[in-house]
Amino acid sequence: MAGTEPQQRAGVGAEVDAVVVGAGPNGLTAAVTLARAGLAVHVYEAAATVGGGARTGELTLPGFHHDVCSAVHPLGAGSPAFRELRLEEHGLTWVEPPLPLAHPFPDGTAVTLARSAEETAASLAHGVLRDGAVYRRLVEPFLGRWDALAPDVLRAPLAGLPRHPWLLARFGLRAVAPAALLARLFRGERARALLAGLAAHAVAPLGSPATGGVALLFALAAHEVGWPFPRGGSQALADALAARLRALGGRIETGRPVTSLAELPPARAYLLDVMPEDLAVLAGDRLPERFAARMRRYGHGPGVFKIDYALSGPVPWTAAECARAGTVHIGPTFEEIGAALRADHRGVVPRVPFLIAAQPSLFDGTRAPTGRHVLWVYGHVPNGWRGDLTEAIERQIERFAPGFRECVLARAAAGPAEIEARDRNDPGGDIAGGRCDGLRLLLRPRPAVLPYATPDRTVYLCSSATPPGPGVHGMCGYHAARAALRRVFGGAPGE
Ligand SMILES: Cc1cc2nc3c(=O)[nH]c(=O)nc-3n(C[C@H](O)[C@H](O)[C@H](O)COP(=O)(O)OP(=O)(O)OC[C@H]3O[C@@H](n4cnc5c(N)ncnc54)[C@H](O)[C@@H]3O)c2cc1C
Repeated sequence: MAGTEPQQRAGVGAEVDAVVVGAGPNGLTAAVTLARAGLAVHVYEAAATVGGGARTGELTLPGFHHDVCSAVHPLGAGSPAFRELRLEEHGLTWVEPPLPLAHPFPDGTAVTLARSAEETAASLAHGVLRDGAVYRRLVEPFLGRWDALAPDVLRAPLAGLPRHPWLLARFGLRAVAPAALLARLFRGERARALLAGLAAHAVAPLGSPATGGVALLFALAAHEVGWPFPRGGSQALADALAARLRALGGRIETGRPVTSLAELPPARAYLLDVMPEDLAVLAGDRLPERFAARMRRYGHGPGVFKIDYALSGPVPWTAAECARAGTVHIGPTFEEIGAALRADHRGVVPRVPFLIAAQPSLFDGTRAPTGRHVLWVYGHVPNGWRGDLTEAIERQIERFAPGFRECVLARAAAGPAEIEARDRNDPGGDIAGGRCDGLRLLLRPRPAVLPYATPDRTVYLCSSATPPGPGVHGMCGYHAARAALRRVFGGAPGE
């Protein structure tokens, strides 16, 4: 990755070299990457605050600070782009729970994904001895190699030779497999459930290609960088990116929805942190109709139903391990999790939802009044679904934390429509920037060597609809900005 930082040659108020639409993690990272190359950058954001999917607000009661979208950041902590930006100098502090993840079972026990691969293997071996050894064999070749692996994995798959081809090939051999195939390596239900929960972050059925790779990547991230929260909430990460940009002379205008590139100041490049169908609208006749039609047809995956809780105390988990974990996956078997994901993709509400829960206030006292807590939890539902999943979500939590309902002081529920209203990049509640089944996780928004580029050399897509896809890691923005630097501004630093 580039290390140099030339002096900016055009400051605030001067002519604009590049315009970025959208101040999500990818838009902000694109803007900072361009500003670090010495360009004058102006960002336009529709919402009143920066951050997109990385924002925090008092959604329930005063003093309870909830993450509006993302909460847990394995890929943020392990992002090569974020690491290069030294966001800690701009107020970002990572809070690391003792355990990245716990996955409880109805018998009151839980498996844990720990910082140490050994401890994780021991947790799996507790169920079936052999599964601990299988897990060790799966992750061992990559331990201590995150800095080599992450830049090659978190990029467009067709974008030329990787830096560490052998390491990537080894990873790829395991990673292209569907989670359903990888799960066959394990005999015990506990290991298979852990794997399914990790793979579910791909928001694709467990038989989909590369879902095994997503599970492996999230497991490795736990061992290599942890699954931390930004102190104060996800907003702190977005604010640090914005502060970094302003320190480089970049400007951000919030409350400025953009409907057409024609309304923006003339610039040599436009980078759009938007969905492909919005790219077609914003760029208008700058794009050939065939390309625009393809962008308009870009498909969206299931939505989510999310509840933020203000609680009178910690969640009363039966399994003690859950109280030490930042994230809890709730779905006791591979089959139950798989059935929920399959149903969502068929447009049917799952009978029992698979839930991802985060409990940041256990480890960060700034998130709730003393003794009180916040809980962040969501399950997948069909795209655009209009029903209420509150009862099913609470029934599912109660299976593993009896008495949970008595702790609830207030709840803020958001179905697909509210999720979309909070962030226009989540149509129908799709939080993954487009469908992730089939090869769509890898080749998005279309198969291309440079998927960020469009037929107009000045216009780039930089949202999570491009590789490496969803998550707060800024790598889509980073790669899009470097593509623009190469193609429009005569080269990216460090190349
Ligand atoms: C409920 C939920 C839970 C999630 N949990 C996690 C998690 O725990 N960990 C994780 O890593 N990821 C998580 N994610 C996913 C993550 O938030 C996204 O993948 C990430 O934010 C994508 O970044 P982005 O910059 O591409 O887009 P976004 O973050 O969506 O930002 C896009 C920005 O562009 C703005 N914009 C769009 N169109 C226009 C326009 N025409 N004019 C002006 N502005 C515009 C939007 O207002 C928005 O601010 C979650 C998402 C949701 C919704």
